Amino acid sequence: MSRYHVRITGKDVAALADLVTKHKITVARHTIEKVHDGYRVDAHAGDTQIKALEAAGYQVEQREDADAQGKQRQAETRALAAPHAANALSVATSNTYLDVDQVEAALAAACAAPNDVFTQRVKLPHPTWEKRTCHALKIGKGSGAKRPGIYFLGGVHAREWGSPDILIHFVQLLANAYITHTPITIGSRTFAAADIKNVIESKDLFVFPQANPDGRHYSMTTESMWRKNRRPAPAGHTQPQCCGVDINRNYNFLWNFPQYFDPESPITNSTDPCDYEVYIGPAAESEPETKNAVWMFDTYPNIRYFVDLHSYSEDILYSWGDDEDQSSDPAMNFQNPAYDGKRGMAHDKAYREYITTPDKTTAVHLANTMRDAIKASRGRVYKTEQAMSLYPTAGTSDDYAYSRHIVDAKKAKVFSYTIEWGSPDNPTPFHPAYPEMKQIIDEVTAGLLAFCVAAS
Ligand SMILES: [Zn+2]
Repeated sequence: MSRYHVRITGKDVAALADLVTKHKITVARHTIEKVHDGYRVDAHAGDTQIKALEAAGYQVEQREDADAQGKQRQAETRALAAPHAANALSVATSNTYLDVDQVEAALAAACAAPNDVFTQRVKLPHPTWEKRTCHALKIGKGSGAKRPGIYFLGGVHAREWGSPDILIHFVQLLANAYITHTPITIGSRTFAAADIKNVIESKDLFVFPQANPDGRHYSMTTESMWRKNRRPAPAGHTQPQCCGVDINRNYNFLWNFPQYFDPESPITNSTDPCDYEVYIGPAAESEPETKNAVWMFDTYPNIRYFVDLHSYSEDILYSWGDDEDQSSDPAMNFQNPAYDGKRGMAHDKAYREYITTPDKTTAVHLANTMRDAIKASRGRVYKTEQAMSLYPTAGTSDDYAYSRHIVDAKKAKVFSYTIEWGSPDNPTPFHPAYPEMKQIIDEVTAGLLAFCVAAS
């Protein structure tokens, strides 16, 4: 079976909802556009699925063969792979994606002298299913519980190759500018040396760039479209797609979605271990990769901002992802069992998720700050939107992070974002050809720098 990058047009919103509920299509949730004959969404689908969609009245525009072109991306990455010398791990001068070992090597190099006075490497406590150990960085000079913590996470979804590279580049650029007292210019935006000094000396940055190394390795060497981790398949399930859990459906936020959501909701989650994309796992936070990501919040209670890097769509998403926001009824919230079975329907009033007006204002403001810096890089305009689209989610990192202070008032409030970098117009948009990826690395780095300067 070949898997194609496609654009699907359905006659109305209900037809787009059916793509998920009836046809089990992997949609790019935030690419819905109104077109003259209906609504269009970017997606990936196999031959049989495409035939079934056409028979059901959808128009399907078939783009590249994602598996075949993914193999080409893998071959390019192998052919251009830099030798494992420390000086070859500079993302700025690299010709290709870092592999799993190179990301770890770059993390080790990033905390060596002269960076050691403001950068420490943090070992994550839970080895992955394939026994890999992950590391993060804590960047900041000085100490104090009042320092705002900013946490960047990447590499959760295996096939989204660029996120670890973005975060390594961000670290390399920031550390070098701080050491040399020089500004950083990306496109038409300049980050002053004084602003960089202030970020390092009055805030704590936590960078965990490669949360799912097993999946990344598998995607870069074997099956480019792989998304999940590499948890072994349950007994009796022999098909290859029955391995793995979607880490970004495994967090403890409305995790057991059939209990909480409207049965008609086009939620992009699955309880089937053999779902290729969005299997939620056997329990909330069952996976070592999820536990590691959560451990950072628990270990560094001053974290108050969180950005999880994903691809693709060119979006900056803010809370919430389970349903549309509302600021008028505090009792209508994810903890209230009276609303079980009602969540996750767009454009209705049966349930919407509560967020205070001041929080919403802050959430949108910081999203716009990132958008503007990204635009200044080469002109791409990322949409700032609520994470809920026609297609809701449960068990994701951003909703989990923002819900922590509501579930437990002793925990800090964490303003939380998901960035979906890269355009749906790119062939193999989860891992674009590297010349395009370089441009994306630059623009997202600009967004993250602006975020660090603004978050306080
Ligand atoms: Zn993702």
